[in-house]
Amino acid sequence: MSINPIQMVDLQAQYQRLKLELDAAMLGVAADCTYIKGPALVEFEANLAAYLNVKHVIGVANGTDALQIAFMALGLKPGDEVIVPSFTYVATAEVIGLLGLTPVMVDVDLESFTISIDHIKKAVTAKTKAIVPVHLYGQAADMEAILAIAKEHQLYVIEDNAQAIGSDFTFSNGETAKTGTLGDIGCTSFFPSKNLGCFGDGGAMFTNDDELASRIRMIANHGQPRKYIHTVLGVNSRLDTIQAAILKVKLKELDDFARRRQAVAATYDAALLSVPEICIPKVMTYSTHVYHQYTVRITNGKRDELQAFLKENGVPSMIYYPIPLYDQEAFARYHDGVRHPNTEQLCKEVISFPMHTEMDTDTQDYIISTLKSFFASCIK
Ligand SMILES: *Cc1c(COP(=O)(O)O)cnc(C)c1O
Repeated sequence: MSINPIQMVDLQAQYQRLKLELDAAMLGVAADCTYIKGPALVEFEANLAAYLNVKHVIGVANGTDALQIAFMALGLKPGDEVIVPSFTYVATAEVIGLLGLTPVMVDVDLESFTISIDHIKKAVTAKTKAIVPVHLYGQAADMEAILAIAKEHQLYVIEDNAQAIGSDFTFSNGETAKTGTLGDIGCTSFFPSKNLGCFGDGGAMFTNDDELASRIRMIANHGQPRKYIHTVLGVNSRLDTIQAAILKVKLKELDDFARRRQAVAATYDAALLSVPEICIPKVMTYSTHVYHQYTVRITNGKRDELQAFLKENGVPSMIYYPIPLYDQEAFARYHDGVRHPNTEQLCKEVISFPMHTEMDTDTQDYIISTLKSFFASCIK
């Protein structure tokens, strides 16, 4: 085992590996003083658009802003209902409430961890205006089914792609497209620990719709189509040039990052498949998995004991997410009282293990043997 403590995400080792290019990119912006809307931002937006095969990429300040600006750009009004999974990061639903819209939380699928198609269908009302699938842990929600529901009921689809950038969705006719480019607007985050992370906060929005793209740019820039002309209430949400310069370097590595994560996942899978109390992540046929998290279910009710045991033995782990959205005080008023069995089960069973691009064999072997020793000793 290495002398350094094991980490969930090893940002230090990734930085060291890419240091020369990253430092040059950052110093270039510092020397040019092109801090706001500089050339590196324009280039990064174009490069990411080419990578994703989407017409427009608009950098914003963070992933939460991206989601908020999406609802603003689509012109949703107070009282409009937006369907979201009850098992997700808070940001997905928080901005909906902030704008006076109504988040309608629905259960998720146990196998994919993503929003349940049956429950979306049951939740659609005359007030429903949009669905927000979250491509959780690095794998797409069932977008073909979601797009079909959206078409039938004329709903917008806003993809929360903060955890799945680079993942490919395959339609039943064999066509593929990157997650985040399938709905009306895709939103992502460049928070440092995300698969494509910068050195602070950052985010982006994707769309193929020219008109939506210019509305997004206008709203993200104080609602001004031209300087000192403000046609709508907007926000101030920019991706800093220095962050874009970093992201431009890292974007070239994104597919390699995914391969490294997939190799780590394959090693976990092979080792843990034989542990009956562990349910390893299922890769859905319609999506590639870029493993933002490697998340398993612990089916013998000893998840919290496992986490304590791992901690004692120097192995970090995380629970994404421990509480259903509707049990959070901030969301209580949006809850109709109906509990979601899959979300509740997942909150009790999920645990995520260290997953990043710099995992070495010795470290992963130690994590795996520690995991196995817990189950070998635990009384069933
Ligand atoms: C990280 C994340 C966000 C928010 O991104 P920030 O950049 O931290 O604002 C939104 N949704 C999901 C699913 C996320 O994982």
